[in-house]
Amino acid sequence: MRLTPFSTLSLLSVAVGISLVTTAQAAQPPAPDLSNSEFQQCLDNLKNSSKFSGVDGYTFNNYRPSQPDPSVIQSLNYQPEFQKDVWDYLSALVDKERVEDGIRAKRQWGSTLRQIESRYGVKAEHVLGVWGVESNFGQTLGKKPLFESLATLSCFDRRQSYFQGEYANALKIVQNGDIAPNDMTGSWAGAFGQTQFMPSTFLELAVDFDGDGRRDLVNSVPDALASTANFLDNRGYRTGEPWGYEVKLPDGFWAASNRKDKKSISHWRDQGLTLANGSPLPYDLSSAGLLLPAGMEGPAFLVGKNFDTFYSYNASENYALAIAHLSDLITREDSSKTDFITAWPTDDPGISRQQAKDIQQALLNAGYDIGGVDGIIGDNTRTAIQQYQTSRGIFPADGRAGQKFYRAIVGNATPSQTQYGQPLNPAPADRMGQLIQQQTTAPSSYSSQPSVSSSTSSNTRYRRVTDADGTIKLVRIDQGS
Ligand code: CA
Repeated sequence: MRLTPFSTLSLLSVAVGISLVTTAQAAQPPAPDLSNSEFQQCLDNLKNSSKFSGVDGYTFNNYRPSQPDPSVIQSLNYQPEFQKDVWDYLSALVDKERVEDGIRAKRQWGSTLRQIESRYGVKAEHVLGVWGVESNFGQTLGKKPLFESLATLSCFDRRQSYFQGEYANALKIVQNGDIAPNDMTGSWAGAFGQTQFMPSTFLELAVDFDGDGRRDLVNSVPDALASTANFLDNRGYRTGEPWGYEVKLPDGFWAASNRKDKKSISHWRDQGLTLANGSPLPYDLSSAGLLLPAGMEGPAFLVGKNFDTFYSYNASENYALAIAHLSDLITREDSSKTDFITAWPTDDPGISRQQAKDIQQALLNAGYDIGGVDGIIGDNTRTAIQQYQTSRGIFPADGRAGQKFYRAIVGNATPSQTQYGQPLNPAPADRMGQLIQQQTTAPSSYSSQPSVSSSTSSNTRYRRVTDADGTIKLVRIDQGS
């Protein structure tokens, strides 16, 4: 959830992903040396500005940071060394482990989800899909102190005006008593809680569903799930419609990917499209656009309005597809196969988070200092992979962790015992409660998630990646690439 989006970005991300950047120079700029006196002067000015007129003096002073946090400016200006293909992105976000966690969550929160469905008209599995992709079902909330992050971004570097508004909104949330100050942690950019709402979205759309009078998107699963449904409803969700489906294109068919160019199902039938398994297209979408995440050779989809509401959550088609696909697998309660029917156009598919951990362990065993095992293939791991590939003559030495590299370094050894977490049956009654406490769990791997303010006149484009420490970074992708 995030900053306002660019619509063309996911296509751009795929294009960038194909021309993989393989240089391993440090892309991370050094943490800037921020003047604390300048910071404190800026905060004095903000306190008296109109943006903060709704924040009382006590609240402002009580949560006023004593120092800026240079790491968030570092994150703001981070540029990735490596780009990700769509199949790598999806294989980490929609793996067996996440599907099983989702099925378990559906069982545990069934009655709450049914109430939410009847109140907001949003299908339970769609809410679960967002929850799973956004915060790994409440396990990954981000650990950056929000007031420090937002105050720093309000006073330094680009986009200060935007972040000043979010800083004021974050203070209002605490002032209102919705969320305890100690729980105000999140991504470096200020998204927080199980829904990863920005503070402005929280104020607009968060709801109290458990009836305790507080909108607590950090500790209350009912509040978080209902707020997600309220968000999707607010963005135009159509009750009873699927998000779309995987389709099969007829021989000789050609079209560009354009999910916004919505046509009737009759139109697509006339064009010769069927469901991916060959069945006729059902008439359960009022209109649908064609989505081709990897071009004509990969999986194809017809997507309706509800897909667009997923997209509005984070302005990336690949991101929305991850939510859509995860929600389908949770609906089918089948974690045995997480691929689409049509294969991605690669002979080297992506890996799951567990396979990523196995690769990281193998790299550590081989003497590569990658910090630790977190299941996230970030710059450190990719650099180590590239060095490993180079030292052993593996071509291409592109630093990518796919199935071929997995086999090369891990072999066909039995995956570790912890592979898929706890057994599905019986579901521990308090599992989700436990998960919420486990906010130090390694985050899932995100990327290709663009975020940029439409109010900025710059044409700089960004994608979002989650770093090994759980912070989410906006990374520029159009500068010099
Ligand atoms: Ca509540």
